[in-house]
Amino acid sequence: MADLLNVKNLQVKVEEKEILHGVDLTVNRGETHVLMGPNGAGKSTLGNALMGNPQYQIVGGQILFNGQDITTEPTDQRAKLGMFLSFQNPLEVPGITLGNFIRSALQQRTGKHIRLWDFKKEMKRAMEVLDMDPSYADRDLNVGFSGGEKKKAEILQLLMLKPSLAILDETDSGLDVDAVRTVSKGVEEYQKSMDGALIIITHSTRILESLKVDKTHVLVSGQMKAEGDASMVDRINENGFVDFLNK
Ligand code: ADP
Ligand code: MG
Repeated sequence: MADLLNVKNLQVKVEEKEILHGVDLTVNRGETHVLMGPNGAGKSTLGNALMGNPQYQIVGGQILFNGQDITTEPTDQRAKLGMFLSFQNPLEVPGITLGNFIRSALQQRTGKHIRLWDFKKEMKRAMEVLDMDPSYADRDLNVGFSGGEKKKAEILQLLMLKPSLAILDETDSGLDVDAVRTVSKGVEEYQKSMDGALIIITHSTRILESLKVDKTHVLVSGQMKAEGDASMVDRINENGFVDFLNK
């Protein structure tokens, strides 16, 4: 069976500047990968390029998802195929409620009408996992949400949309200890519920405490410098990235 995600020699330009210089990454079904690296290494660029954000121009290499070449597919097509990116800085969208946003994303993705009653029931359950007040479903998407609430809204989308590959870009940054625990609980629920795969971009070990990590990757200056198991996260937290800078 083909790998779930197979990135080959990916080169990405942002505003005419090459940021990723030939990145390889393979993720299998059910695996959890951690992506670490100094600020400005290109981690968010990789997430955006994988999701097909048009600001990130793929100038070389290939992205295969479930064996299909999606290098030039638009974002909505990638979402339909089962890819999901949670944003480092989620946008506020006045005029559409969180509930309607998720229901419409779900209907677009599955191509099926979803009964409001069923949707509300499942949404209520997922919001309970995340300690979110149900009234948030009727509030405009992220408008006036605190940093922590925005991140929870991202994880709510993850639990409702059940993508086969989720990329979480610093979902834990800027959160207090309790919020990290809640977000981590949501991610754990996703990890357990299906054979979905995760790429977690993070600087901290806190979100990883209750998760099983299969592989850690270190990105420095747009290149993968090292790959290891879960223990690499601890090593980096003790020593920083200095071991990888001059390789
Ligand atoms: P990381 O997520 O690892 O901190 P980024 O991928 O955000 O790094 O950034 C890598 C480099 O690409 C930085 O030099 C950053 O300034 C540049 N970059 C990323 N996204 C954009 C963008 N949308 N517009 C301009 N420059 C960008
Ligand atoms: Mg980033």
